[in-house]
Amino acid sequence: METVLPFFEQVNFNFDKAAKYTNYSPGILNEIKACNSIYHMTFPLKRDDGTIETIHAWRAEHSHHKLPTKGGIRYSTLVNEDEIMALAALMTYKCAIMDVPFGGAKGGIQINIENYSVGELERITRRYTYELVNKNFIGPGIDVPAPDYGTGEREMAWILDTYNAMTPDKLEALACVTGKPVEQGGMSGRKEATGLGVYYGLREACSFEEDMKPLGYSTGLDGKTVVVQGFGNVGYHAAKFLQDGGAIVTGIAEYAGAIYNTRGLDIEKADSYRNKNGSVLNFPGARTMENPSEALEMECDILVPAALENQITSENVHRIKARIIAEAANGPVTPAAHDLLTKKGTLIIPDTYLNAGGVTVSYFEWLNNLSHVRLGRVGKRFQENSRKDFMTAIEKITGKKFPEDEVEQLMHGPEEKALVNSSLEDAMTVAYNEIRETRNRHGKDIDLRTASFIKAIDKIARSYMELGIFP
Ligand code: NAD
Repeated sequence: METVLPFFEQVNFNFDKAAKYTNYSPGILNEIKACNSIYHMTFPLKRDDGTIETIHAWRAEHSHHKLPTKGGIRYSTLVNEDEIMALAALMTYKCAIMDVPFGGAKGGIQINIENYSVGELERITRRYTYELVNKNFIGPGIDVPAPDYGTGEREMAWILDTYNAMTPDKLEALACVTGKPVEQGGMSGRKEATGLGVYYGLREACSFEEDMKPLGYSTGLDGKTVVVQGFGNVGYHAAKFLQDGGAIVTGIAEYAGAIYNTRGLDIEKADSYRNKNGSVLNFPGARTMENPSEALEMECDILVPAALENQITSENVHRIKARIIAEAANGPVTPAAHDLLTKKGTLIIPDTYLNAGGVTVSYFEWLNNLSHVRLGRVGKRFQENSRKDFMTAIEKITGKKFPEDEVEQLMHGPEEKALVNSSLEDAMTVAYNEIRETRNRHGKDIDLRTASFIKAIDKIARSYMELGIFP
């Protein structure tokens, strides 16, 4: 029976495994691994019924090798110091792999959101932000939070408003947090970015015949069956984009149970059903399973854990049937389970890479907020006019007219969302190929997770050297 290591130790275990393939000194490696700052705060919440409760919350800045540090804020009863340090470390490696110029950070509040009113959640979020401002743990050039498990645009708007109220007349204040509503400086496409990144990453991973053949799969996503665990922001969007991309989502596991249909579930309908009924259970046309963990063990080609860490352990790993595991969540597979899976040839696409779509688009949002101009605004009309001139010239030379219904589409200048999505597609594709090439360079010795850590260590060590810290 596996003793599941504390999460931060799991991340460091994966780091150490990869470090053996690099030539950096133990001093440099230890400096990269260390969590630079951690702030544990407690504060009182006056509940709606007048009672007082003590709230525990954390913010960890894992690495200051690039500033600001960046990472989401999680609301969950499982939040603790170890988890937040582990998630902050994963952010450091993720940003390095994606060439996003941030150090890693993470925050968390130890609450179950179901137990609090909206007013109470707002008071908790604002007080948390107040503590971060007071201790210099937030700011456009210091540390920039974003959404994670249990939080979303609403919480980011409260954080921005509190930050603004406490630091008036700051030109760059909008960039103190990302994942904001679009009307408040957010970026079109940020909400779905992590799920869309999961889709782009999986599409790329499935495009190599050399990697699909040993699994007994053909290339492409078309017709591949998928089970998703966690139907939240990441899980829903990943499922939706995978379905749009030709995969068949046969199972969705939620906290309270799972639904399953071998012919496929309609993701948008399942989402509307959940919004109306409060749960996906008993979704018409699907089989309902009361035990959600059984869903992980269902027959499928791709398993997408998109909930929390430690979901696949040595206890259930032998029952996992999927040959591809796509880590949309952070840390869903323990090191022992990872070893057993890779030994039987399962392809694990690691969290350090696969869920990096969120931070990548957060980077665009942060840049946008600092530049005070929306992506695509400058030059849009110029591009449209140039296209029009080009088309007129073609019509003149050929003596033929473009079809009316295509003219507008061909002339259309880039919208923010199209620019964001195409940049994300490019970033996910480039990073996957870098990791895969690193893996292939090391032959059969290493898997994609180790390759992704090698890439991260290399990039971080080099940036320390650029700073002249380690000559
Ligand atoms: P979320 O709160 O929007 O959704 C999580 C969902 O998982 C919820 O619906 C919850 O009920 C469900 N869930 C929890 N435990 C479960 C279980 N045991 N079985 C089945 N379902 C369960 O959170 P999210 O933002 O989608 O984050 C999910 C994961 O993705 C986390 O690991 C997070 O760190 C990671 N992630 C999120 C982002 C982002 O942009 N939000 C970015 C990168 C990584």
